Amino acid sequence: EWILSNGELVKEQDLEISKEDRGYQFGDGIYEVIRVYEGDLFTATEHIDRFYASAEKIRITVPYTKDVFHKMLHDLVELNQIDNGQVYVQITRGAAPRNHQFPANAEPVLVGYTKSVERPVEAMQNGVKALLLEDMRWLRCDIKSLNLLGNVLAKQQASEEGYFEAILHRGDTVTEGSSSNMYGIKDGVLYTHPATNLILNGITRRVIFELCDELGIEVVETAFTKQQALDMDEFFMSSTTSEVMPVIEISGQKIADGTPGELTRKLQTAFEARIKLGVIS
Ligand code: PLP
Repeated sequence: EWILSNGELVKEQDLEISKEDRGYQFGDGIYEVIRVYEGDLFTATEHIDRFYASAEKIRITVPYTKDVFHKMLHDLVELNQIDNGQVYVQITRGAAPRNHQFPANAEPVLVGYTKSVERPVEAMQNGVKALLLEDMRWLRCDIKSLNLLGNVLAKQQASEEGYFEAILHRGDTVTEGSSSNMYGIKDGVLYTHPATNLILNGITRRVIFELCDELGIEVVETAFTKQQALDMDEFFMSSTTSEVMPVIEISGQKIADGTPGELTRKLQTAFEARIKLGVIS
């Protein structure tokens, strides 16, 4: 397997990471996960734009143009012969003697690798259960930061209790999932939290808005409460790996009749068309 290491493609055994890499010690870096369908990077431009935007927000400069970076990711996927899978790529502020403040002359460290992944077809067909949990993360959730402890602890609790995902809320307000965005549909209108500092503006979320536009589904970006979530006609989550994933039960309570909703199904079909596969009927 080939790894992208600071602009070079190297063999995994040749990858060297310092014990004082700031990603390792402080989570001082950002990342992206990009889906590969049939050998192609899906919505690569949007992911690359967000990678550069996240880096800029924490004052890391990616030392390549976006075009050069795009080509590196493309070459990595090709070299590893990834058909259906994903690319993980991160950049950290680099290695330096451990001090909280930025080091004077560390070089950013960029690592990318690929993995084959199947689409979660069964879960997408049947829907999943999610657990409401207090959102205990920091106030810059718009940055795709390597600091994921709040997300990790929430997902772990949900998972231990038999749930697929955690639905995070700040007080009464539903924000997003531990690694996904959340949507409710009521009377034919789609509701989701606006893209503020409290959520990550998902790339899948943006694709879904386009699909809603095509399908004539009204989108209202407004925060809704935990109770409103439970009272929705349909509920679903989205992410690069989960695509459009129906949520049929929240914290033990069924959403409507407890099966994937009609508009959710329509969005899944439209999403399928986007990626030009035919797995969900
Ligand atoms: N929100 C969080 C906290 C995430 O980690 C993710 C992605 O994994 C998302 C939302 C969904 O973003 P995307 O659709 O770009 O994968």
